[in-house]
Amino acid sequence: MAQLAPEQLTQLAAQFGTPLYVYHADKIREQYKQLTTAFNGSNVVFFYACKALTNIHILRFVRDLGANVDCSSINEVKLALHAGFPAQRVLYTSNGISFDEIEEAVSLGVNINIDSLSNLAKFGKRFGHNYPVGLRLRPNIMAGGNLKISTGHDKSKFGIPVEQLEELLALIREHNLHITNLHIHTGSEIKDVEVFVKGIGVLFDILHHFPELRSIDLGGGFKVPYKEGDGATDIPLLAQKVKEAFGAHPVAQALQIWFEPGKFIVSECGYFITSVNVIKETAAAIFVSVNSGFNHLIRPMFYDSFHRIINISNPQGPAKNYAVVGNICETDTFAWDRELPEVREGDLLVFLNAGAYGFEMSSSFNSRYKPAEVMVNGDEVKLIRERSNFEDLLRGQVPLAP
Ligand SMILES: *Cc1c(COP(=O)(O)O)cnc(C)c1O
Repeated sequence: MAQLAPEQLTQLAAQFGTPLYVYHADKIREQYKQLTTAFNGSNVVFFYACKALTNIHILRFVRDLGANVDCSSINEVKLALHAGFPAQRVLYTSNGISFDEIEEAVSLGVNINIDSLSNLAKFGKRFGHNYPVGLRLRPNIMAGGNLKISTGHDKSKFGIPVEQLEELLALIREHNLHITNLHIHTGSEIKDVEVFVKGIGVLFDILHHFPELRSIDLGGGFKVPYKEGDGATDIPLLAQKVKEAFGAHPVAQALQIWFEPGKFIVSECGYFITSVNVIKETAAAIFVSVNSGFNHLIRPMFYDSFHRIINISNPQGPAKNYAVVGNICETDTFAWDRELPEVREGDLLVFLNAGAYGFEMSSSFNSRYKPAEVMVNGDEVKLIRERSNFEDLLRGQVPLAP
């Protein structure tokens, strides 16, 4: 298991300052290898869902591993092209976007999944059969009521509902559309492999309506462990089930299988290093205020996500319970009643699983700077984004009159 040692994290904090995001490229390589190994022998392509972490150095690294890239906005498409992905390895899975962006994506030559009948009609009028396109479908999968699986259910905004199949097929006939890909993405942190099997079932039921199909795109959402003893998506089992399903289907066995993992590729590679500003003892809790907040890592407040925290400055200290909070003027609790080795002012606290949706969701709220980002690849350490500065806060604002 590729992992950075506390000593190295301490050294990086000294070298680059805190708060600091550190990404361990060896871990990204390991995760990608796990996927390609499990699916060895099948016609499968992995599109890294880059909204999890778009630093161009990460994109370049992922490109060099051999993965393709999935984008959520036209600017992500442009970042991916900038990082050196050829257009045919870029996929734009849109949701609710303006038709202008779709036209721009066509002009850039990338693959596109369209998620509404409205945009599909516009696409048909403009491009007819000339530009191959994919469909983002909504499979209406609730998967045993697991609320985390939240983009594929029947009240979700994402995708064209499968129950609108007749309308969809009429549109395709009317404009002679060239449909080459069917896509579903049922949500994030899907541990249960059966959810993917169900999704495959939904797509297999309608496959025969799409004679020009070249691929089936099963989306992302593989779960990674957050806590000790936490489960993860069983990738070898997933591979086995997918191979079985596709192998047994007369049409599907000739199709390419696509996946769009985001979190799975980059979550565990990330370490977010903070320093302790203040310790405040109260009747309710001992508050540990770090030099960060939801301006840098919003997932605990936004999604109630659990991040392991390690005190790399005092690992042998006696265990105590703490409330780990930020320093911005909002309630920004990272962890409540968390047992840590005794924390002292100046200690370094490191948040794990910080690679995905960490820096990417950060902001300059409270006019604080955004953290720097560092990438560690074997023995190589590289600063890949500078900490923002006061000029960045002023950038774009019209200067005051003298
Ligand atoms: C966000 C997203 C993904 C990646 O989800 P993860 O949970 O990070 O794996 C994949 N596909 C689409 C269309 C997405 O929007």
